[in-house]
Amino acid sequence: MSPGEVGRITELTSSGVRIQVVKFHGNKLPDREPGKHLWVMLAMFRVQPALGDRFDLDRENLLTIEGPGCYWCEHPWSEDVAAKPCGGDQ
Ligand SMILES: [Zn+2]
Repeated sequence: MSPGEVGRITELTSSGVRIQVVKFHGNKLPDREPGKHLWVMLAMFRVQPALGDRFDLDRENLLTIEGPGCYWCEHPWSEDVAAKPCGGDQ
C-alpha cells in the first residue's frame, strides 16, 4: 500500500447510498503544498471487519466526529494556527 492509500476498503454505505471508494476519491491524499495546512475532520464508526471490504457508515454506527485539525502538522484549527504556515513534516 502506498502512502495515503485508504486501504482495502472498496465500498461504503450511508443511509442506503453506496459509495465506491476508488471512484469517489481515488484512495489518495491531495498533493502536499508546502506551508499550506490540510484541514480535515475525522469520523469514527463502529464497524464489523469480518463482513469483508464493505462498511456501513450510518448514524447508528457513528461514535464521534473530531476536528477540524491539520493532517500535516496535527494542530487543531484555530485562527492563530490557520494564519501561520504549516510546519508539518515536509
Ligand atoms: Zn498544518
